[in-house]
Amino acid sequence: MAVVAKPQSKNKRVAEFLASPRKMLINGQWVASASGKTFAAINPATGEELVQVAEGDKADIDKAVAAARKAFDSGPWRKMRPNERTKLLWKLSELVLANADALAEIESLDNGKPFTIARAVDVAGTAEQFQYMAGWATKIDGRTMTLSTPGTFGYTLREPVGVCGQIIPWNFPLMMAAWKLAPALAAGNCVILKPAEQTPLSALMLGELIMEAGFPAGVVNIVPGYGETAGAALSGHKDVNKVAFTGSTEVGKIIMKAASGNLKKVTLELGGKAPNVVFSDADLGAATAGAAMAIFFNQGQVCCAGSRLYVEKKSFDTVVGGLCDAAKNMKIAPGMDPTCQIGPLVSDEQLTRVAGFVERGKKAGATALVGGEPVGGGGYFYKPTVLTNVKHDMEVVRDEIFGPVVVASPFDDLDELARQANDTPYGLSAGIWTSDIKKAHSLAGKLQAGTVWINCYNVFDPHLPFGGYKESGLGREMGPEVMEHYTQVKAVVVGGM
Ligand code: NAP
Ligand code: MG
Repeated sequence: MAVVAKPQSKNKRVAEFLASPRKMLINGQWVASASGKTFAAINPATGEELVQVAEGDKADIDKAVAAARKAFDSGPWRKMRPNERTKLLWKLSELVLANADALAEIESLDNGKPFTIARAVDVAGTAEQFQYMAGWATKIDGRTMTLSTPGTFGYTLREPVGVCGQIIPWNFPLMMAAWKLAPALAAGNCVILKPAEQTPLSALMLGELIMEAGFPAGVVNIVPGYGETAGAALSGHKDVNKVAFTGSTEVGKIIMKAASGNLKKVTLELGGKAPNVVFSDADLGAATAGAAMAIFFNQGQVCCAGSRLYVEKKSFDTVVGGLCDAAKNMKIAPGMDPTCQIGPLVSDEQLTRVAGFVERGKKAGATALVGGEPVGGGGYFYKPTVLTNVKHDMEVVRDEIFGPVVVASPFDDLDELARQANDTPYGLSAGIWTSDIKKAHSLAGKLQAGTVWINCYNVFDPHLPFGGYKESGLGREMGPEVMEHYTQVKAVVVGGM
């Protein structure tokens, strides 16, 4: 049982937000759950309760879907001109920036990540996402066709899909909400968003800003709750036209099955086990710093984390030595400590999971050059960890650990490296570090991954599509590509011409 000890925030909005139980957003109203049940949002730096949150389940999802359905089928939303949607999305981005400190603090308290990162990456990225997608609202169009049947012509209309269920994870709670909401709203859809049980707070604060911006009632509904209840009800709901999910590959498969009842459109952004490849001709300083950032950013709780490091044999000791130094020197602290570089993992469960992977890896013969254990004391902190002496078939090399744990292996043959890098069910991302441009592009072509970073890592942009090959996902988020998933095409044929 968590201890109730409210953090004393200096930020007025945060203090007010944490002062009373948080409700869910349905049809433009903040309401308690139908069951009256609540659950605790936990601060992973201390294990203490932050605030109670309304626990949505099937009954609340039903209400939210009905509200979204009504807003889509007969509300003012459908009649709104595209530039009005642009203005609303832009207004929302401005409200996000105006409340950046409050959002970042909530994100840091609920997820554990450093406040400085939450402010610079999560909140800034959220605002940028709404801004980029604000532009898309006025750029959705169809085609006209000269047809071969005499006396006819054809054109296409690109229309919104309808009511979208969006289920998001706990690693980037606010940014994942933005990646999902922004394109859906730009295209004119209505949404039911279910945040992860571990991190419901920033999505709820964003919901307040959505109402402040002036989105009509029912266009955005936010229902916190558990995956097995609220998430399952949403992904199986017959009045929902599309489901978009980010999380584990395992749950992605469950979602896809649930969605098959009424053949919902499905997009999935799932796990990864990204190869990050360093050649000897790279700028080794930049590559080492990049390898550290690729795995330790966000405590390693990143689907595209560079969790398999491959270093050309003659540079292995130099790069891995530098990586270990970086790991040892990182400041581990609660996210609200301004010097924090590594915060706690999101939950006790995730700490146990990560620690279990490393223990089993060590038993199988891996060596932890640094880290390899929890920090101990209060909070869910785990030390940045570098594992060597790993074999390709070990669990730590094959499975997504989702923590600050990298496995490092030497290589000397390019073809064998490409084979190993691709020998995984995942295919989300990859990194390449080299000064040989020909080698870089050649390997980029061979790697089975939705994103390949060359001499950089974790670079995201709203204009870049993001998504997975193989079991890392279905469809793309962001970029022009995402608009395909939030619109559907109607062909209109005119005869008698
Ligand atoms: P998860 O179970 O896949 O959760 C992601 C989202 O799906 C959450 O909102 C979750 O709700 C919901 N969910 C769970 N079961 C569901 C169901 N049967 N039907 C509908 N929705 C459901 O991820 P997790 O348990 O938090 O983390 C486990 C592992 O997933 C991690 O260790 C990592 O390997 C991977 N992961 C990947 C990403 C990514 O970005 N690709 C993100 C997070 C986790 P609740 O949280 O409320 O249960
Ligand atoms: Mg939490």
